[in-house]
Amino acid sequence: MAKEVVEITGIVFKRQRYKEADVLAKIISKDMGIFTMLVRGALRPKSKLSASVLAFSFGKYQVLTSQKGLSTLKTYKDVKQFTNLYSDLTLNSYACYLCDLFDHAFIEYQDIGPYYNLIETALTKIDQGIDPEVICQLVELQMLKAFGVKPELKKCAICGTTEGSFDYSISTGGIICQKHFNQVTRLHLTSKQVALLRTLGLIQLQRLGNIAVSSSSKAALRKAIDRIYIQTVDLNLKTKKFLEEMRRLKI
Ligand SMILES: [Zn+2]
Repeated sequence: MAKEVVEITGIVFKRQRYKEADVLAKIISKDMGIFTMLVRGALRPKSKLSASVLAFSFGKYQVLTSQKGLSTLKTYKDVKQFTNLYSDLTLNSYACYLCDLFDHAFIEYQDIGPYYNLIETALTKIDQGIDPEVICQLVELQMLKAFGVKPELKKCAICGTTEGSFDYSISTGGIICQKHFNQVTRLHLTSKQVALLRTLGLIQLQRLGNIAVSSSSKAALRKAIDRIYIQTVDLNLKTKKFLEEMRRLKI
């Protein structure tokens, strides 16, 4: 494919030095998925591009691209920054982990469709001070589908009923009703915790208000989601380990 200049909307989530004074900035974009921009001379004192590719900057970027390998940043406009994601260590570790999760779910330049709105809204809400753990759990649950795991959260994964109390079964791949509690392995969540898991897995993030979730429910769901990921996706992300370390220090 010939190179062309394309304007994309995206969020820079990672940058590293390249050669003498250049920067490689990784971006999640609405238009061309996740890719790396080469920013020539970004480390020179008078660079006009440098500020636009600080971590968690977002806006419109014009790139010269053939939609494979590196694209070159030419210019930008309306670029702002999620300042709290940049400066607050806890929020920063949540944001880095969620972007890393995206980075592993898709290949370069793959169309990410509605998932762009998911990450953009998640980062906006975390930056605004909405509980980052709840947002993180919601994104993790909704990203399972992008990893090819599609948990059944609407009805019992075995008999299809929508009534009664439920638990979650990883081996069955979704929620199960009471009738099967002795037939399959399950997570032994309370019905309140399952209800929260279903809500977070199914609701559109834009429609989630500032819901208050007790720390015990958050802890139970954290354990459940971690188990689901370990048994079905099996990622081993450094950003996740770092986030776990941050959580431990907070408690
Ligand atoms: Zn059932």
